[in-house]
Amino acid sequence: MSYDPDNIFAKILREEIPCIKVYEDASTLAFMDIMPQADGHTLVIPKQAAVDLFELSADAAADLIQKVQLIAGAVKRATQADGITLFQLNGAAAGQTVPHIHFHILPGSILAARQHASVNADREHLQTIATDIRAALADS
Ligand code: 5GP
Repeated sequence: MSYDPDNIFAKILREEIPCIKVYEDASTLAFMDIMPQADGHTLVIPKQAAVDLFELSADAAADLIQKVQLIAGAVKRATQADGITLFQLNGAAAGQTVPHIHFHILPGSILAARQHASVNADREHLQTIATDIRAALADS
């Protein structure tokens, strides 16, 4: 599948549509999932244009997992979750809906997570959690 430069995360990277950001550096952006499956549900994306893990360069993959480790630690502390689930879907057949590779950071168990509500979470609530995550990152 060729990369669609108009996918929603590409637009977020170009700041054409907003996101609630928790982390950004030269290679990575992390932001709150708009339809969280648990409080603190965060997405981490590389800036490299890649549909899925198999399109990502090895260097970008290595960098991405290190950023996921960093941000997941901050999400864990900020939400005081006892456990954190990471997941990353490759291809529509696996359930991937946005064709730009992303890791999900989900406080708690994926088995206990509510199903996609298909409604956007309250923006103020997301902002509050994002502030806590940014503070936890600043402490790390
Ligand atoms: P996937 O099913 O592709 O692994 O996950 C895509 C995720 O992106 C979903 O959890 C969905 O809630 C989230 N999402 C879709 N559109 C947007 C958006 O415009 N902004 C944000 N912040 N998240 C989105």
